Amino acid sequence: MLIERIATGTLKAESLPDDYVEDGILYCGNCHTAKEYEYEIKAGASVIKGKGAMVCDCEQASLMNWKSRIRSLILNTGKTR
Ligand SMILES: [Zn+2]
Repeated sequence: MLIERIATGTLKAESLPDDYVEDGILYCGNCHTAKEYEYEIKAGASVIKGKGAMVCDCEQASLMNWKSRIRSLILNTGKTR
């Protein structure tokens, strides 16, 4: 169940040595974008509070590079693997 996975911290932000925590939220030491967000889920009578992982600006940029690299690899080989 996804809520359980979030609540037990399976979805956790990856922290790098340069990263820092401000007000309990992890920030990227490189682009200073938050890598975590706080949330509340109402489950019946109880409220689950937790933190989720977010992709910061520079991670997003490297993810885009990675995707386009994969895409060019796929185009080059003609295979989807
Ligand atoms: Zn970053």
